[in-house]
Amino acid sequence: MCEVFNSVIVDARERPIVSMLEDIRVYIMRRWADNRDRIIEYPREVLPRIRIKVEKQADASGKWVSTYAGRDKYEVTSIHGGKEKFVVDLKTHECSCRKFQLSRIHCAHAMTCIRKMCFNVDNFVENCYKKATYSECHQHVVYPVNGPNL
Ligand SMILES: [Zn+2]
Repeated sequence: MCEVFNSVIVDARERPIVSMLEDIRVYIMRRWADNRDRIIEYPREVLPRIRIKVEKQADASGKWVSTYAGRDKYEVTSIHGGKEKFVVDLKTHECSCRKFQLSRIHCAHAMTCIRKMCFNVDNFVENCYKKATYSECHQHVVYPVNGPNL
């Protein structure tokens, strides 16, 4: 994120401090307004980049078979019958592979369990990856400012 921001303000960094800050303010004002407009039109609950990751996990989940053990816990094994075996807890959003806990996006093992039970996949995506949270983050407006002539 830092590198992307630096590349955006590369021209502004050459300017005196007040002009540089003004360029950054205008950039942020424009960017937040664009983000706010885009998210209003976005029809789904889960944000686009996260949706792609979820769909990849859905594709990968075909390689796994889950067995319900009770109390939202599952044992997940490979369809190829290897030694790999994972424990998934859908209630606490945990998998023994730890991807679910680290990224807060369900891994292929958890996805296998979610699909088996026909649960809504979006309910297992963390709130920080949802449209409502994104909208809330961008609700504030960077207000326009009059020029030095006023
Ligand atoms: Zn896992």
